[in-house]
Amino acid sequence: MKTAVCPDCGSDVNVGSQPRVGKQVVCDSCGAELEVVWLDPIELDYPMMDFDDYEELSEDER
Ligand SMILES: [Zn+2]
Repeated sequence: MKTAVCPDCGSDVNVGSQPRVGKQVVCDSCGAELEVVWLDPIELDYPMMDFDDYEELSEDER
């Protein structure tokens, strides 16, 4: 098992034995929902939640 540091509380978060970018994990310590954003070293960040804004931007570009 590998761990990464929670950006919210600084605790080690279990990301499984073969983490991938985009894998969603939950911090055991603070309950934050996180996503693997980088693998070497493993970094966690908050997942993108603003789907409305994202879709708006894509439509404007087309
Ligand atoms: Zn945490």
